Amino acid sequence: MESEITGRSIIGFARGERSAVTFHAFDPATGNEIQPGFHSASLDELNIAAALAENARIAYGNIPGQSRAKFLRRIADNVESLGDVLIKRASLETSLPNARFVGERARTCGQLRMFADLLDDGSWVDARIDHAMPVREPVAKPDIRSMLRPIGPVAVFCASNFPLAYSVAGGDTASALAAGCPVIVIAHTAHPGTAELVGLAVSAAVRECSMPEGVFSLLFSASYEIGQALVNHPAIKAVGFTGSRRGGRALMDIAAARNEPIPVYAEMSSVNPTFFLPGSIKNRGETLAAGLHASVTGGVGQFCTKPGLVFLGQSNETAEFVSNFKSQISDTAPAPLLTGGIQKSYNDANELRRDDAHGVSANHETDLAGFAVNPSVFETTTDAFLKNPGLSDEIFGPTTLLITAETKTELLEIARSLEGQLTASVHGDDTDVVEYADLIAILETKVGRLIFNGFSTGVEVCPAMVHGGPYPATSDSRSTAVGSRAITRFARLVCFQNFPDSALPDELKEDNPLNILRMIGGKMLA
Ligand code: NAP
Repeated sequence: MESEITGRSIIGFARGERSAVTFHAFDPATGNEIQPGFHSASLDELNIAAALAENARIAYGNIPGQSRAKFLRRIADNVESLGDVLIKRASLETSLPNARFVGERARTCGQLRMFADLLDDGSWVDARIDHAMPVREPVAKPDIRSMLRPIGPVAVFCASNFPLAYSVAGGDTASALAAGCPVIVIAHTAHPGTAELVGLAVSAAVRECSMPEGVFSLLFSASYEIGQALVNHPAIKAVGFTGSRRGGRALMDIAAARNEPIPVYAEMSSVNPTFFLPGSIKNRGETLAAGLHASVTGGVGQFCTKPGLVFLGQSNETAEFVSNFKSQISDTAPAPLLTGGIQKSYNDANELRRDDAHGVSANHETDLAGFAVNPSVFETTTDAFLKNPGLSDEIFGPTTLLITAETKTELLEIARSLEGQLTASVHGDDTDVVEYADLIAILETKVGRLIFNGFSTGVEVCPAMVHGGPYPATSDSRSTAVGSRAITRFARLVCFQNFPDSALPDELKEDNPLNILRMIGGKMLA
């Protein structure tokens, strides 16, 4: 398997041209360019990748699930066989430690294998059979069978903050390939070398498993032009995106304005409100302050599940909790963010917040190398928070906002005012859960995942996980980007009426050759 970083796109089985338009990754620790330069794909190359994907659509969509499972497992094996080269490159391009990427690689490969297991089982297609009733009066009932089928070629945008798990072979790609959809990936400009290495691993798996050529392409682009043209391309039938609200919204608007609008599954902006009810601070204040600090500063605060708003119920111990947390932030060393753009956004947002809330920055260091920033914490009142909507905006990086509520009524008012979120966390004791049941009921309408006595960072990858939520957390609150249900984003329902058994997909054949769980006549049967 090839593992040399050349800076050229992967277009089916071919490599992109060495174009004159190039860009570089940067070392966030120093701000220096990393070699080599990456060559922007041209519109012609994009059209070739899209045509290949369109050509592969029917063949790949009809490959049996168990063969697609082998393909996904081969991708995982190939990603692992890149070894330290991948770990070191991801670390260099992000300034995050090697250990982080050993964990993220395990998550990425575990995700691919989870979808492979789902395909081996086969029941995910939600097959339903309603037998014909030719003698029914007053009209005969036809034979009706339906199941989930692949939606078609999918465009995937890599996330800056998860170069492996939400990027080239990450959750969107894994779930789209599992569903039977060809994928064209747009590499993130922050970690193109990592993208190319993983792209080579996927591309090798395509050949090794004799999959159609157009099943996978990876495009580099120095500007938004190629990504936007891809979303606009008629061959593309769905989009997966993780990033900013502005970027996600732009792609949603492009997709909606097409002649044939298509779904965009964008995971965008979440401040993950975290509620400390009075009993929790009273009984476990010190542990919780340490846990909050770890959750706010882990990965330099660049997780989509970072607690960005922290609401504190009033108790005798609240002031001590606040002071303890602030001093932990003050003692935290500066660290580099992923890109110069994210650094600028962080510093600008901190400046703005300083005008609206009382802020504490760690160390107050001014001469920081590369893309480094100081962690910070801000504090405000319920009244000020409710009057200033800007205070609930996401700030990507190691910062959070503490809001002390004097009464339960204030906490409920705050909860009602929140936008859609990926998560909300509630810390409390057994009495709090009963007393604040109405708070939890409000939060359920706002989020995809409710957490009790835990922190929002650290998303378990498992079939029951929901990593989604109402807008702006995501573009479609009915879906999840993590867990096996993510596959349904890239599938659509197709119904076969009165088809002969021999012409039906195996999942719908009368004698159930795949032995999957199906709904027959309204009842689930194996
Ligand atoms: P981003 O700017 O939205 O970029 C994500 C990807 O989409 C990149 O590949 C980017 O291209 C592309 N893109 C962005 N806007 C586009 C547009 N209008 N048209 C076509 N392509 C577009 O996000 P980011 O660079 O990862 O980070 C910036 C901010 O996003 C952060 O400060 C944070 O606020 C937010 N973010 C949120 C999450 C989350 O999960 N909630 C995760 C990551 C980032 P380029 O590579 O050329 O920039």
